[in-house]
Amino acid sequence: MSIESCVIYEKKPLLSVNEAQERIYAALSPLTQSEQIPLKQALGRVLAQTIYAPISLPFARNSAMDGYAFCSKGLSSDAPFTLTQIGAVFAGSPFKGALKEGECVRIFTGGVVPDNADSVIMQEQVDAQNTAIHFPAAIQFGKNIRQIGEDVRAGDPLCLAHKTLSAIDLGFLASAGIEHVTVIRKLNIAYFSTGDELISLGEKLTTGKIYDSNRYSLHGLLQHPNYNVFDGGVIADDRALLKQTLQQAAEKFDVVITTGGASVGEADYVKAVLDECGSVNFWKIAMKPGKPLAFGKIGGCYFFGLPGNPVAVTTTFDIILKPALHYLASATHQKPLLFSAICTTPLKKSRGRQEFQRGILTQTPEGVLEVATSGHQGSHVLSSASAANCYIILDKDVTHVDCGDKVSVLLF
Ligand code: AMP
Ligand code: MG
Repeated sequence: MSIESCVIYEKKPLLSVNEAQERIYAALSPLTQSEQIPLKQALGRVLAQTIYAPISLPFARNSAMDGYAFCSKGLSSDAPFTLTQIGAVFAGSPFKGALKEGECVRIFTGGVVPDNADSVIMQEQVDAQNTAIHFPAAIQFGKNIRQIGEDVRAGDPLCLAHKTLSAIDLGFLASAGIEHVTVIRKLNIAYFSTGDELISLGEKLTTGKIYDSNRYSLHGLLQHPNYNVFDGGVIADDRALLKQTLQQAAEKFDVVITTGGASVGEADYVKAVLDECGSVNFWKIAMKPGKPLAFGKIGGCYFFGLPGNPVAVTTTFDIILKPALHYLASATHQKPLLFSAICTTPLKKSRGRQEFQRGILTQTPEGVLEVATSGHQGSHVLSSASAANCYIILDKDVTHVDCGDKVSVLLF
């Protein structure tokens, strides 16, 4: 990369984070291929098709509590009355037969309410003397029965296509007897570190070398039920090797991620190689940390060249890559929840880029959200990122934040 062309690039206004996100969404084609898997393996997977209820829920009228069931026809709640208990209904074993006038059955939660019964009265409200059950005045008829289909009617949608299945969804689908689900196939993702200075854990550290931490951050960030992940190791700062490695990876994976080498230094080849063997959509954004961020395609594979600095890696992943991968995995888009919090430490910032400073969000006993900086904000400083639990998002034109100012916060 010659000095002149760098200057030309710098003169162009950098893409905002929002613009970069829009360009990514416009370029990505969400996966459509699907596979059928057992319900138990579906946690966190994305539904490929809407699932409709094969049955109504509840499937049968059943009792909402332990008590006594009877038919209120001909009875008055103005005065106490007595009914004869003729049997008991446990969950799982319905009462065989019909209730006649003057009769009731003992019933337990989930027990099927006899056809002609319309009321269940809680056991604590009655006085039971053997089979003589005394009901007090002013009890309410027609209550405590769970009606057929009051939760879901047969044919209703249970979970919509593109929903990411939660633990609750697994239970919900199981309650309707769904054994298998059709989900979007997993994304195949490879990631590499780049840099001659990197050594692996277990190797002896010498001056000038550093441990490759980015692959560990990415390993953690990419743990997801929708991803098959391949750790490709470290690529040396060698243009030909980088090109060959990326081309080979692009043939096998849906997404290739690198860290480092995305800037404009002498040994930063990512952008040039992407230009050569694929197409660059953009390679810089107005974000801090994370200005050098390349996005493009190599053949049919999407490529993200993240910065090298460790905090820039985790931040660009959270803000740019994570939503992009969800989108690519065909999951319904959910806007992240931002909170407004009172900043309890002054913050400094230079104009020009949107910043994602690392902070510690707490709540006062009165419920007020407060946030403080987690310390040194250098994009190489993992200690303050490790101490943090949120990003403090500062817009590009902000230059400082005073104690007591409100700021926007995104939880990690
Ligand atoms: P680069 O973008 O390659 O110039 O890297 C920017 C900074 O991030 C340099 O200080 C690199 O040493 C550092 N860095 C790059 N890759 C890694 C990595 N995998 N683990 C830790 N630090 C890294
Ligand atoms: Mg490097």
